[in-house]
Amino acid sequence: MRFFQQTLLAGCFLISTAGFAQNNDSLIIAAIVKEANEHSELETIAHQLTDGIGPRLVGTPQMKKAADWAIAKYKEWGIQARIENWGEWRGWERGITHIDLVSPRVKSLEGMQLAWSPSTKGKTVTGETIILADQPDSLSFQKWLPAVKGKFVLISMNQTTGRPDYNWEEWATTASFEKMKKERDAQTTAWRKRISNTGLNAKALALALENAGAAGVVICNWSSGFGVNKIFGANTTKIPTIDVALEDYGMLYRLTESGVKPVISVRADSKELGKVPTFNTLAEIKGTEKPNEYVMLSAHFDSWDGGTGATDNATGTIVMMEAMRILRKIYPNPKRTILVGHWGSEEQGLNGSRAFVEDHAEIVDNLQALFNQDNGTGRVANISGQGFLHAYSYIGRWLSKVPQEIRGEIETSFPGSPSGGGSDYASFVAVGAPAFSLSSKSWSYGNYTWHTNRDTYDKIVFDDVRNNAILTAILVYMACEDPEKTSREKAVLPINSRSGKQAEWPAQRKANRTGN
Ligand SMILES: [Zn+2]
Repeated sequence: MRFFQQTLLAGCFLISTAGFAQNNDSLIIAAIVKEANEHSELETIAHQLTDGIGPRLVGTPQMKKAADWAIAKYKEWGIQARIENWGEWRGWERGITHIDLVSPRVKSLEGMQLAWSPSTKGKTVTGETIILADQPDSLSFQKWLPAVKGKFVLISMNQTTGRPDYNWEEWATTASFEKMKKERDAQTTAWRKRISNTGLNAKALALALENAGAAGVVICNWSSGFGVNKIFGANTTKIPTIDVALEDYGMLYRLTESGVKPVISVRADSKELGKVPTFNTLAEIKGTEKPNEYVMLSAHFDSWDGGTGATDNATGTIVMMEAMRILRKIYPNPKRTILVGHWGSEEQGLNGSRAFVEDHAEIVDNLQALFNQDNGTGRVANISGQGFLHAYSYIGRWLSKVPQEIRGEIETSFPGSPSGGGSDYASFVAVGAPAFSLSSKSWSYGNYTWHTNRDTYDKIVFDDVRNNAILTAILVYMACEDPEKTSREKAVLPINSRSGKQAEWPAQRKANRTGN
């Protein structure tokens, strides 16, 4: 009887605390949604970061400026923040690039030097253009090389069309579209052969051209959409490498091919700054009950520098900053510690997050969960369990509290399979820590914004980004409050039907801390 009474009492108590917790959850979640919708700072911080500071290439002064800005912003919101150095990188600062056609007529061309391109040493360099010759083998290529002296060498294929395929699909006859694709395939194969006949890889070809006295290397890395080129790093060490927009590149190519001997003048300013520190930027709200257990927000802070890194990854960055701001205001005393990682040098191989995993076993071993966002401006549409057997139970529990209009957009896959790369969550997954990707809808990310010259503020879709800030804040809140520590048990990975081998958990990879 006594036993019965006690159980009954205990039962009542449990029911009432569960009832209270549920109530409390819904109050806090409602407050998070209200704060995000009524006092959003997303537009302001996006503007300050992308328009004011600009792109955040590793090793540039802008990357450091962005970190200082984020720390000041966190302080303003009452959140502790710090820079944590983890290595060195080649310091470089982009200056102006001017590219002009000066003969047979005058036109300013659309283009820019690649990241880490050598400058024209404060001068404007003028020269004829020449197309990388089609030689039968490396020996004849070496014989041709002296022809580049004093000239700008066009080393990219001239595109068959400046219209993206979706435009052809809409307007061309089927026969004409098929014909164009066939021509383009043949042309692409021929151009690959032309490059491979030099006997040199991309880096060695650039060096061979500069050693032969070329004035510069001209490329066109078209991203298969109207007005978009991808802008990566230069392979030259003495002469500038410039990327020219498809329209202007095509014109230069045709004029060169038809024997008009076009002349361009190029001014490329940039500064070499020696070795500079490379770092992560961290901010933290200390836990009250379990301060040594961590719930992490994660988004890389660095970018390529053809645009302003708006969707790769200012959007992920501002989602995490806004979620931190909201959490500090609505949930200032979390049970577990909330930590945000704004990683450096993701673009060169997840280096900031890999360094963090190497340097902070005490955090990684006590990680309750990490949420990373890094594939554009869209609403989160997919969450995978990353191969953790019980992710279904805790992620499911947390997601169930997210408002239906946000949760309804999300497809989940459990247990899912562990990612070996792609973005910073993979650095944590590799060591068996529960890290997840908040994967978003595309908004033509691959062609139009990812690493392109058009990755700018105007491409941000703020309603979607706000949706993601709310989602992140609620997931973090739920992960902090969860009475249970998350399980790290791994699922048995599937057998590959082709190789017959069982998939292996991705291995941990070392951070590059020297920039070589
Ligand atoms: Zn990214």
